[in-house]
Amino acid sequence: MGEEQVEYYKQRYQRLEDLPGVGPATASKLREIGFKTVESLATAAVGELVEAGISEATAERIIEAARRSIAITFVRGDELVKLRSSVRHLTTGCSSLDNLLGGGIETQSITEFYGEFGTGKSQICQQLCVTVQLPYERGGLEGGALYIDTENTFRPERIMQIAPHFNLDPKEALKRIIFAEAYTSSHQMMLLENADEVIKENNIKLIIIDSLTSHFRSEYIGREMLASRQQQLNKHLHKLIRLARAFNAAAVITNQVMAQPDVFFLKGVQPVGGHIIGHTSHTRVYLRKGKENIRIARLIVSPFLPEGEAPIRITERGIESGEEA
Ligand code: ADP
Ligand code: MG
Repeated sequence: MGEEQVEYYKQRYQRLEDLPGVGPATASKLREIGFKTVESLATAAVGELVEAGISEATAERIIEAARRSIAITFVRGDELVKLRSSVRHLTTGCSSLDNLLGGGIETQSITEFYGEFGTGKSQICQQLCVTVQLPYERGGLEGGALYIDTENTFRPERIMQIAPHFNLDPKEALKRIIFAEAYTSSHQMMLLENADEVIKENNIKLIIIDSLTSHFRSEYIGREMLASRQQQLNKHLHKLIRLARAFNAAAVITNQVMAQPDVFFLKGVQPVGGHIIGHTSHTRVYLRKGKENIRIARLIVSPFLPEGEAPIRITERGIESGEEA
């Protein structure tokens, strides 16, 4: 499908009611189950709509129409290269980390930072809330950030401290960050399920869940809860990846792991989410403490990058390359 055609349908299908087969009643059903934008419907499954009482034929028609407006369809291998070219990189604002990541954080996929307490996961997230606002030519995505915080660690003061180092006005920078505190795992899931409209209205290009796993870990205790925990986490991540694809946004999650006394620490470190996160997130970065304010970032899995390490430094100015100075 050509770009002009996508553009045509994008203009034509702006609201749910613009889609064929969607009247006011169906539109309100869709909104109730968390599909408030055409973009989010493009990545919906027929079954999800049927569950809300929409007939299968109508559901198929709605989803197909929505897909026309964001160019999701079967593609040939050579076209996939072109489709992938809509993937952008978001600078972390830290040259060593950008190099490790092959130019920054990718849109349309999930990047996970995991490590012990105090290794800089939340610091990186807060810096990304600033860099996402930068113009493309400076490595930004010219958009806003959505920050879902489960540990109450987001600090507006920190944003105001970091912003001037990227030549952004601190108060303006704060205005482009939408913050939500999640109180439980189901609240966290609900926030994301209802996020599509907020994402669209605020031109959100970065979705952060910091941390993905803390509520799940404290609520689902014991072996017998493991299967349902993984199932819920899987659903949550699935929603996240779909939002990232639909809005060409970067998705960043954090995951706290326990200290490892073993020298062969990497073998022992098992992030809380286990295999499900490993399969869903496309890029995983393990953080560990070095001397003083130095942290070592290690790329663990990437579909196309070799593994490697980068030193970073946490300072008053934000996250910087640990190689300088
Ligand atoms: P976590 O991995 O647990 O999310 P954080 O991202 O909160 O860890 O990182 C905490 C670290 O960041 C601490 O070592 C703290 O000293 C450092 N830090 C936080 N704010 C500042 C600042 N304004 N200047 C320098 N270092 C800071
Ligand atoms: Mg943190």
